[in-house]
Amino acid sequence: MYYVPDGTRLCGFYECSECHSRFLSLMTAPSMICPACGRAVDYEIGPDEEMPELKEDAKLVKIIEGEEEVEKYDTLLSLAITGGDYEWI
Ligand SMILES: [Zn+2]
Repeated sequence: MYYVPDGTRLCGFYECSECHSRFLSLMTAPSMICPACGRAVDYEIGPDEEMPELKEDAKLVKIIEGEEEVEKYDTLLSLAITGGDYEWI
């Protein structure tokens, strides 16, 4: 498992409307701050600058239920990120 811990039975499948990254989260809120966009913002601001308001660009695509389903999505998304190099994990 790459995005969520082993044995997760319920998670949210999110897609970011800004950078189009897809990921799983233990959260199932309708929207959340995209981890990719959130990180990008952190690098660009200095310590003295005001924190820009992070937009919740990642939208819940669907809620995934069941340990097997969660594992299936986790594997698919992990492969997409690593280009199929499963050894890397
Ligand atoms: Zn994003």
